[in-house]
Amino acid sequence: MNLFDSHCHLTAEAFDDERPAVIQRARDAGVTEIVTIASDPKDTESALEIAAGHDGVWCTAGLHPHEADHFGDETVERLRGLADSPEVVAIGEAGLDFHYDNAPRDEQRLCFEAQLHLAAELDLPIVVHSRDADRDTAELISSTDARGVLHCFTAGLELLETGLEAGWMVSFSGIVTFKRFDGAELVRRVPDDRLLIETDSPYLAPVPHRGRRNEPAFLIATCEAVAAMRGQSPEAVAELTRRNAYSFYGLERDAR
Ligand SMILES: [Zn+2]
Repeated sequence: MNLFDSHCHLTAEAFDDERPAVIQRARDAGVTEIVTIASDPKDTESALEIAAGHDGVWCTAGLHPHEADHFGDETVERLRGLADSPEVVAIGEAGLDFHYDNAPRDEQRLCFEAQLHLAAELDLPIVVHSRDADRDTAELISSTDARGVLHCFTAGLELLETGLEAGWMVSFSGIVTFKRFDGAELVRRVPDDRLLIETDSPYLAPVPHRGRRNEPAFLIATCEAVAAMRGQSPEAVAELTRRNAYSFYGLERDAR
């Protein structure tokens, strides 16, 4: 069974000492495709280098809401240039984080809106992080032509429904394996053709790896938990999420 990790951060310092080994362990665990997500333009350059050097690895170009106070007109130009590379399959990670509020909220909004415009203009999907910002995120999703994914989904029913109505994808991370996770009903609500799974590694290691550094090889734990909640087999969830990731990111299936 093959798995597609639709969202992780291979550029993270946590992987510095053994990045090729991490990618090899993913392959050995059946994780045949990975999209490594960028947090800022400089991080995008590092992600591009990793993607260019490994078959089955692609990347994004974007500015994370945590970094939104570094946003300016030149950021958009830089991201537009970076997105020209064939390895870049999406814009992001963009969005709103009103939990940590690492950047002022109005700057987060500007930065998110600019990336929604860029994604629509370049006809690339956008990877969206939303934390404690359901209402604002829903508003922006409803008013954009861009198509995207609500990544690491832990929000409420309303944002889920808004995303689904707009034709967006919903992605679940290792959080679904945590004891305190109470969103099984939402996991069941996502139609087969809108579902993605991800590790978000090096963060959020799923049970039974919880508390350790996460890596793409651990994706199977999330696949199994999602499958159990949906009453599907892990094989079926692996297959449909892989197919969805290929189509969402505009990749040629079996091209590699
Ligand atoms: Zn992420």
